[in-house]
Amino acid sequence: MKRVVLVTGSSRGMGKAEIEEFASRGDDVIINYVHNQTMAEAVKQEVSAKYGVRALAIQADLSKEAAVRRLAATALQEFGRVDVLVNNAGIALYGKFEDKKLADWEKSMQVNLYAPFLLTQLLAPEMAKNKYGKIVNIATIDVMTTYNPESAEYDASKAALINLTKNSALQYQPDVNVNCVCPGWVATDMNKDLPQDLLDYQQAKTCKGRLAKPEEVAKLVAFLASDDAAFIDGEVIKIDGGYKLMN
Ligand code: NAD
Repeated sequence: MKRVVLVTGSSRGMGKAEIEEFASRGDDVIINYVHNQTMAEAVKQEVSAKYGVRALAIQADLSKEAAVRRLAATALQEFGRVDVLVNNAGIALYGKFEDKKLADWEKSMQVNLYAPFLLTQLLAPEMAKNKYGKIVNIATIDVMTTYNPESAEYDASKAALINLTKNSALQYQPDVNVNCVCPGWVATDMNKDLPQDLLDYQQAKTCKGRLAKPEEVAKLVAFLASDDAAFIDGEVIKIDGGYKLMN
């Protein structure tokens, strides 16, 4: 079956790698971006030329409810259905705990939690009706094994996303699988401005001695969205290269 896959925040980083992975498996893909139309169009051109799939780039700022609704509506209008939803887009606002504003919390919640909820609510009922659907949410190991007050609102939003994963799996059983992937440190733009000594420290705490490549996470996401993972539902899976196994 040729599937339609929507990955949020997919003009770069892990989202882009996920689009490439799904397209390489023959799925039609919808790229969502907020600002960088040029990069989104480049991903679209690349995967449609390389894999012969249909690709579409849709602008939508996921911090805005109306934009999230427009993204879902446009996807359904253009493709007729969405079979796979990957809630990948995320923001992390690092800063001193004491300096954090409620506006930081609000923005993080909007992108990292409310948008995944709304997209699930808008797309999963149709998946259930079609008796086929896969949703993969991207959280982080931060909320499972480690904590950081400098990203308290990020951690809280991702912890809630794990919770949403389980409630969504219950809500849309039995034909829609909803799972969550928790990456460790991944080499993407999200980390590019962090101090090198912090990245070195984190790599040293990882058995693999390096950050993950976005493609490595994309392969797990694609697996969870595949029929090979049909009996995995409401699950939370870490992919962190053995982070902090040693003292
Ligand atoms: P990234 O910053 O390259 O990608 C994040 C994507 O989300 C970007 O495409 C960005 O444009 C998009 N985005 C941000 N705000 C948006 C908005 N308002 N509307 C629409 N899109 C928006 O970082 P990444 O590492 O590829 O992150 C992908 C996901 O993985 C995120 O959810 C992130 O929290 C999670 N994650 C990343 C790491 C890591 O170490 N990089 C670790 C664990 C989890």
